[in-house]
Parts: sequence; structure tokens; C-alpha cells
Amino acid sequence: MGHIDADFAGETVVVTGGSSGIGRAVAMGFGDAGATVINADVQAAPKDLDAGTPTHEAIEERGGTAAFVETDVSDPAHIKSVIAAAREFGGVDVMVNNAGVHRSLAFLDVSPEDFAFVHGVNARGTFFGTQAAARDMIDRGDEGAIINTSSTTAGRAEWNHSHYATTKGGIRMLTRSAALELDEHGIRVNAVAPGPIATEIREGWSREARDTVRGSGGLPSRAGTPEDVRDAYLYLASEGAAYVTGETLWVDGGAHV
Ligand code: NAD
Repeated sequence: MGHIDADFAGETVVVTGGSSGIGRAVAMGFGDAGATVINADVQAAPKDLDAGTPTHEAIEERGGTAAFVETDVSDPAHIKSVIAAAREFGGVDVMVNNAGVHRSLAFLDVSPEDFAFVHGVNARGTFFGTQAAARDMIDRGDEGAIINTSSTTAGRAEWNHSHYATTKGGIRMLTRSAALELDEHGIRVNAVAPGPIATEIREGWSREARDTVRGSGGLPSRAGTPEDVRDAYLYLASEGAAYVTGETLWVDGGAHV
């Protein structure tokens, strides 16, 4: 199969939750494509102890430019600080709202605290991340792209995911609603909906179980990797997607079919 080369030289990209898993692969992808990358995460160290150096250091080791800003995306004041940090590099051109948490809980067992925690990071973090990035782009008079991380649970019910699915379904509609209101400013808003990706978000799972997960109907035939998802973000941020907005791109090995 062929491949598409990405070039984001001169662009500043903020990736929330860029220390681990999908966010790390996306941050590295933008770094390899020449962007200045700001990783906004609660911790610099990758959750996977085998992953190596923190993302910003790994990007710099490969000749790129990157920074880490300690950020809790559930606090809108933290997100404002990240956007301010991006101004030092010319302002945010691409915002990837990716930070997320998951707790595997039966619907009847979800407490208000569980709900608030998962909604605080996933839904609130993505909502105010989208808003803060858009305000900054508009203030600077620059066009830009925002990409949110949804999930196949935005369209398909799964056991023990009710409180998580409500965030991811919400992110899907936030993406469409924000796309509608931001189009006049030249800001595109899209989402990626990954299927089961082998990352540390699946806490409590053995590595083998994590890596071999299959869909009940046969699809997906294997667990995805963060690299399987990465290029969807680069595409949606690129000029190649200039006529794509409000879309949720399923990258799930066919899980949603
Ligand atoms: P991960 O646990 O490997 O990475 C999540 C990252 O988010 C970590 O670096 C973590 O430190 C960071 N984070 C957590 N809380 C944060 C906060 N309050 N503020 C800032 N950063 C915070 O998980 P992942 O699988 O790479 O997940 C990335 C995104 O993809 C999440 O939104 C997740 O819901 C979504 N997703 C994952 C899967 C999957 O199967 N792995 C499937 C669909 C969607």
C-alpha cells in the first residue's frame, strides 16, 4: 500500500493526554511532520513503563520541537494556561482534545463521583478545550482545526460503559455543534472514534487480554494500536480535509458495522 506524507512545519499543535497511548502516537506523528507540539497531560511520564522517555523529550530526540505543560483538562483554567503557552509558539493551529479516562462499571453501580470524574475529564475537558482553542484562533484571526477523541461507544452500547459512553456520545454531538458555529471563523471541528486500542486505559486487563480483544461479531479481528489511529488525526488536521467538518471518523477495524 502507498502512503501520504504529512507536513505540518510552522504549525503549533496542542495534544491533551499526549503522554501515553493514542495521544502519544498522535503527538509523535505531528512532531515527525515538523509541527511544534505541546503535550498537555496530568503527568509527563508515559503510563506504559516500557514506552521510554516522555513524549516531548522523544520528539526532541527525533529532531523536533516540543514542550510539556502539566494540565488537568477537567479544569478550564488549566486549559487556558495551555493555550497561553501555545501563544509563545505563535498560537494554537491544531487542537487535539484527546485526554480521557475510563472506569469499567455496571450501569447500576455508577456513583455520582464516578460519573463526575469521567465526565469531568472526557466531556468537560473536551468541551472547554474546544472552546478555548476556538477563542484563541478567532482572537488571532487565524483559521484552524480541532480534533476530538470520541469512541465507538458513541454509536454502539457496550457493557459497563454507560457513564463513559455518555461522554463519548456527547463529544460526537459537541463536535457537530461546534463545527456548525465555528465554520464562519474558518475553524473545522472533527472527531476520531477509535475502536478497541491496546493502551493503558484498560487498567486491570492483562497485556495479553488487552492486545487480543475481538469484537463479538468477528469485527474487529484484532485490537488496534495507537499507530493504527494516529494518521486519522493528521488527515483531519490537514488541508486534505479542508471540506470535512462536523465529522466523526470511525477508526475501529470495522467494530461499528
Ligand atoms: P491512555 O490511558 O493510554 O492515555 C490517556 C492519557 O490521558 C494519559 O497520558 C493520561 O495521563 C491523560 N489524562 C488522564 N486524565 C487527564 C486529565 N485530567 N488531564 C490531562 N490528561 C489526562 O488511554 P488511551 O487509550 O490512549 O486514550 C486516549 C483517548 O482515546 C481517550 O479519550 C479515550 O477515551 C479514547 N479511546 C480509547 C480507546 C481504547 O480502546 N484505548 C477507544 C476509544 C477511545
